[in-house]
Amino acid sequence: MMCSKNLGWRTNRLKLGFFIPKNKQIILNFAYFFVFYESKGDIMFDFHIHLARLPQPKQLTQQLCNENYDFIAVACEPWEWDEVAQLKKEFSTEVKPFKAAYGIHPMIAWQANEEMFANLRNYLQEDKHAMVGEAGIDKRYPGYEDGTQDQIFLAQAGLALELKRDLQIHCVGDYMRLLRLLNEAGFPQDKAQGQDAEHLHVLSRLQEAPRPIFHRFGGDTNFVKKALPFGALFSLHEDSFRKKSTAAAIPHIPQERVFFETDADESFLDPDELVEGLENRLESVRLAYAKCRE
Ligand SMILES: [Zn+2]
Repeated sequence: MMCSKNLGWRTNRLKLGFFIPKNKQIILNFAYFFVFYESKGDIMFDFHIHLARLPQPKQLTQQLCNENYDFIAVACEPWEWDEVAQLKKEFSTEVKPFKAAYGIHPMIAWQANEEMFANLRNYLQEDKHAMVGEAGIDKRYPGYEDGTQDQIFLAQAGLALELKRDLQIHCVGDYMRLLRLLNEAGFPQDKAQGQDAEHLHVLSRLQEAPRPIFHRFGGDTNFVKKALPFGALFSLHEDSFRKKSTAAAIPHIPQERVFFETDADESFLDPDELVEGLENRLESVRLAYAKCRE
């Protein structure tokens, strides 16, 4: 069962390659080098997973590493930072490294203080490959209306710029407000970017600049067009295809800026079939993506 599924993933990866015209291959390979995190190879790559929130995180991490399931372990509050840093120490190796992200989620923006930020900075400085996030805005939590969430987001965007780290962004609410905040924080833009694949070579100019990553993406086409000049990456989740305006926007994102995620956390499925559940969820995102590009 596991084997045939992995094979399917590989075969489909190859198929996706055929969508790219030959004369664009060199440019895309170049872009691949800059855009992709390490070599993805023939493996599943989960761009956003809350490893520490899942049951038996140690056994699970070990199992995922053994299964060649690649991932970015996202930690969005202090206890989760501790756990993810510990998991990284124990299980991330040179042969099979995994990436972490440390941030203050908008759900706890109202609790953030200087001590929390100092602590966050320490985690980021200790792990030079870690991203900042997830950070963002969410209308379901306190601080959305009065600007508290904006301030906590801006501070983390500043940290991402200062430390030259990519920023995993969470947004439930006004996507355009996030672009204004990125601008305010000083995230660089390159107007030539994202227009079409021929302009992807300009990515080298932004290579040092952190990129915003819109996780569990739920914006529309207009947003995609305005976000691409920031060098934005888009992490798609099953939910990304539920909203019509987002499903219509996804084909406008250059393929090399697209990643897939489970966003799996404590609310995730059956603990006995975790690995298979994660793979199935990633596979279903990949299939939804292939379908919306047909
Ligand atoms: Zn998340």
